[in-house]
Amino acid sequence: MTPATAATAGAGIDTAAIDALVGDGPAAWDAAGRIPVALLRKLGAAGVLCAEVPAALGGPGADPLANGELTAHIGALCSSLRSIMTVHGIAAATVHRFGDRAQRRDYLGQLTSGRLACVGFSEPGAGSDLSGMTTRIRPAGDSSGDLLVTGEKMWITGAVYADTVLVFGQYGAGPAGSGGAVGAAAMVPADAPGVSIEPVKDPLGCRAATHCRIVLDDVRIPASAVLGGGGQPLSLLFTTALSYGRMSVAWGCAGILRACLTAATADARTREQGGVPIAEHQLVARHIAELYTSEQIATQACRHAAQQWTRGAPDAAVAAVLAKQVAATHAARGAATAVQVLASRGFTDGHVTARAYRDAKAMELIEGSTEISQLILARHALDIH
Ligand SMILES: Cc1cc2nc3c(=O)[nH]c(=O)nc-3n(C[C@H](O)[C@H](O)[C@H](O)COP(=O)(O)OP(=O)(O)OC[C@H]3O[C@@H](n4cnc5c(N)ncnc54)[C@H](O)[C@@H]3O)c2cc1C
Repeated sequence: MTPATAATAGAGIDTAAIDALVGDGPAAWDAAGRIPVALLRKLGAAGVLCAEVPAALGGPGADPLANGELTAHIGALCSSLRSIMTVHGIAAATVHRFGDRAQRRDYLGQLTSGRLACVGFSEPGAGSDLSGMTTRIRPAGDSSGDLLVTGEKMWITGAVYADTVLVFGQYGAGPAGSGGAVGAAAMVPADAPGVSIEPVKDPLGCRAATHCRIVLDDVRIPASAVLGGGGQPLSLLFTTALSYGRMSVAWGCAGILRACLTAATADARTREQGGVPIAEHQLVARHIAELYTSEQIATQACRHAAQQWTRGAPDAAVAAVLAKQVAATHAARGAATAVQVLASRGFTDGHVTARAYRDAKAMELIEGSTEISQLILARHALDIH
């Protein structure tokens, strides 16, 4: 079994063209903390950032496996770029799942023609426990039919590039928190009056993706911006969105492992110490074996989850948690192993293994931390055994 190559990575999208566009940019983007926005728009307009959007709605119409391989391909190039792809893809998947016909047509048309989206779940008081969200999406109370969005979102990936923020919040007219489990997801223009976006300084990893605090101060939006009219169970909204995100992050981690494996094997073959290539030292060979094992395990978990999604299997959401858990823990361990093999040669900012080491750690925190994933998997195991 071999990792996906440019020829096999998914959705009929020309990965050689993506490689050419990305070039050797990721190291400089990491150092600068920015990806050129023109490049993001170009990839967005090619459908690369949300490849599962059906052709009838303007997207490439990839299935989960093809989109997954595409995500791994981009994840191997640059986790920051893959992070933008993940949040943009979450926004598209959420519109597709909860939007009405006009919202699907309008928003998915935008998201496949170069406009960019980010996604706001997390808040200062709501991280692992999103039921604690206090952002409110409520009627303005005048004859306009508009709604007001009020709250604060934290660590929102890609917000500096985004035209639209998909905001999750409590829905209804009551005071903050009183909306109980009733929620809404709204497409809020990033330049609307009352929206302020402030990047987090010096994040540990995925630096070029950017992560932002967003304050929403009575932001007025039309009713047509609230997906499906609002009033869905809040937990249904965010678990549906997170399932897409977990799959995407899992494939991104498979990509991190592939990039680390390529770097570690190349170095181990050519770097000589003690008169032989370091690959011939058995303890280094063991590192290579472990890295290869991690990449294969992560890939298999991702493929299994993609199959379950394609089949509509009842355990598809759990398979996404499992894939993310397996791939993220192996990516964090594998990236550390790759740094160990390259030693000083992989220890400078921007280098593929240094970026992988920092970026992979984030994957154990996001879309459900390791601990939250373990709780979900334990609950599932207790249910079925
Ligand atoms: C790089 C990065 C990108 C991000 N991008 C986005 C984004 O685009 N949009 C967005 O909305 N958010 C984003 N986030 C936020 C992210 O989703 C949260 O950081 C994550 O949900 C964890 O929340 P927290 O940081 O508040 O940690 P906390 O929830 O405070 O958790 C702290 C620790 O306690 C553990 N813990 C918490 N509850 C339990 C429990 N019940 N049982 C056992 N252990 C528990 C956690 O696992 C963790 O180890 C991003 C974060 C990072 C770091």
